[in-house]
Amino acid sequence: MSCNYQGYEFGAGAYPDSVCIGGRLFDADNCDDKGNLYEPTEEIPCPMCNEAGAVEYWTQQHMSSQGWPRKHAMVIAKGPSQKHSP
Ligand SMILES: [Zn+2]
Repeated sequence: MSCNYQGYEFGAGAYPDSVCIGGRLFDADNCDDKGNLYEPTEEIPCPMCNEAGAVEYWTQQHMSSQGWPRKHAMVIAKGPSQKHSP
């Protein structure tokens, strides 16, 4: 099961470079010449399929080095479009 989520988790910046496949994010730039995506080396939860898991992932990614607040991880996980929500 997959949603249509696309995000910026892999750092390309100017365009969405992550896609959800089965609730995990794959790097859209990381594929063979037929466009088959490679298995991700690390499991990044999709913020639409598994919001809690995605927030947890980003919190852990940044907690040790920079002490990110959980709120910041939430923004990264869900993307800037969420700013329209109250
Ligand atoms: Zn998804």
